[in-house]
Amino acid sequence: MQVYRIPVLSDNYIFLLHDPDRHTVAVVDPAQAEPVLQQVRSLNAELIAIFNTHHDRDHVGGNQQLIDRFPQITVYGGAEDRGRIPGQQVFLHQGDRVEFGDRTAEIFFVPGHTKAHIAYYFPPSNPGETGELFCGDTLFAGGCGRLKEGTPAQMLASLEQLRNLPDNTRVWCAHEYTLTNLQFAITVDPDNPELQQRLAAVKEARSRSQPTIPSSIGIEKSTNPFLRWDFSNLQLAANTRDPVQTFARLRGMKDRF
Ligand code: FE
Repeated sequence: MQVYRIPVLSDNYIFLLHDPDRHTVAVVDPAQAEPVLQQVRSLNAELIAIFNTHHDRDHVGGNQQLIDRFPQITVYGGAEDRGRIPGQQVFLHQGDRVEFGDRTAEIFFVPGHTKAHIAYYFPPSNPGETGELFCGDTLFAGGCGRLKEGTPAQMLASLEQLRNLPDNTRVWCAHEYTLTNLQFAITVDPDNPELQQRLAAVKEARSRSQPTIPSSIGIEKSTNPFLRWDFSNLQLAANTRDPVQTFARLRGMKDRF
């Protein structure tokens, strides 16, 4: 399975999953249809699935046009998003499995950004491979989604599930927010050498308009303050010893950053 990254709108990424043996493609969170159709044409493949992580317009905006063009397509989304995702046919719960080509994704229910948000995790199919995580607006490189429809405790539990994935899992999040996220991170975790290095590298990449996605679970665990609610220096920055309070206060500080 080959993953293609398509930048759209101001800072969104659409991801295409390509199965070269079967000449099929699935798309994750098509904000727009046209860039997806172009890439599907250039791969000379058939679009067979839309994997939506949540209902926000910048994640489902291309659904209807893709359905019109490929009427046989299957549209997947979270069970709690019923009525909010255009064309949704499959209503997924925690632990459900979804097949694409020779790979099978596990579904994580990750409420917090929205009440219905899900993530798609493709474990490695053989030992040399990495897992692929499509986490929408839950975990970002260096940050996490805003709490639009969920509580800090819910979001922490959602992120904890993702934090437990293998370190080499590639993290395909839906926005290029990494630089601002790390500029906030360094204010609450200033003495973290891995974070200092990452910020410098991301600054350099962004100055050349290079993407910073995918990240990996290992990088996020060592540098993302929103996966570090149980580290004493972040608890100190949040002025509490309570993990949920730590997370909640960091999220509040980021909202005002
Ligand atoms: Fe978004």
